[in-house]
Amino acid sequence: MSMRWKGGAPLRKYMNDDIEEVICNCCGKIIKAEHGIVKEGVFMAEIKWGYFSKKDGEVHSFDICEACYDKMTESFLVPIEQKPMREFL
Ligand SMILES: [Zn+2]
Repeated sequence: MSMRWKGGAPLRKYMNDDIEEVICNCCGKIIKAEHGIVKEGVFMAEIKWGYFSKKDGEVHSFDICEACYDKMTESFLVPIEQKPMREFL
């Protein structure tokens, strides 16, 4: 079932400019958005690989649901840094 999304197809669905749904790259879970707002915790990552990498000029992105994020970060040898958000303006 995850085969469907292999090969670099866009994984975020948009309606006009509003995000409609996000697919967790890790488990394939579909996370719906309402009026452009994703109503669940999602780790949305994008990296622009630069000159000093072996992927110079490539932009990679993926989305990870909160459950998979927890599993992934719990497997880290060195724990992630965690701190409370300060006031956000
Ligand atoms: Zn997931």
